[in-house]
Amino acid sequence: MTNGRCGLCETADVPLVRSHIYPRWCTEVVQGDAKMMFTVSPHAHIRPTPLHGGGEYDRIVCDSCEQSFKAADDCFLSLYRNRLAGKVLRDPNGTSGVVYAGLDQALLQRFFLTCLFRAHLSRRPAHGNVDLGPYLARMRQVLLRPPETVPDMPVTLVRESHQFGRAIHMPHQTRFGGIRFWRLALPYFTGMVRVGGPVHGYVPMLGLALGRHADVWMPDLLDVPPDLLRTLGRAKAHHGDAIDRLVAKATRR
Ligand SMILES: [Zn+2]
Repeated sequence: MTNGRCGLCETADVPLVRSHIYPRWCTEVVQGDAKMMFTVSPHAHIRPTPLHGGGEYDRIVCDSCEQSFKAADDCFLSLYRNRLAGKVLRDPNGTSGVVYAGLDQALLQRFFLTCLFRAHLSRRPAHGNVDLGPYLARMRQVLLRPPETVPDMPVTLVRESHQFGRAIHMPHQTRFGGIRFWRLALPYFTGMVRVGGPVHGYVPMLGLALGRHADVWMPDLLDVPPDLLRTLGRAKAHHGDAIDRLVAKATRR
């Protein structure tokens, strides 16, 4: 057991337990029968790297803080398992959405906040390059309290129903509607987490932080978003051969 300072409660010299940044089952969904996983980047200088077989983990928090993540992890697992139970809304203009009834929005919001926080604590490159900077103290304060909606860290949820919706994207910053978000893509759902001061004006598609046990509306992406296609195209152009070699090595008997 490795001792150290807990990244959440900041107790010194406590045993640090294994934490997955995204829950392990997310990795298993992506791996399917292949039981292998590697990082792929659209940048030429970041080589594809095989990941730990059981999903990437790190030792970043104490046992009781790790346990405190469980309710939120379970809430997202329940959404994933019931992903087909949402009421689909299609409008003649081609936009579509889906409504999930009776979700605990505070827990769902907390799930994405904990993922972002765990990625910040981990120095493993596969967990992305998250730095919460001046918002770290506020994030700790939020996560050490019982779950409640956090208006200054809203999460926008999107269901990804297209052919690449099962992929995992480690947290990365992106702009959406002119506002900077952390984008966390998990199997079939993406959370857009905004960490920072209040936004003045219209924030599109803020589906969370409205209340508890309420209906949650989210856009339903049926087609692969163009920016994702461009990113995948770049990754394939830079690393196609390296990926083929990794797959060949992993499947060789
Ligand atoms: Zn702790």
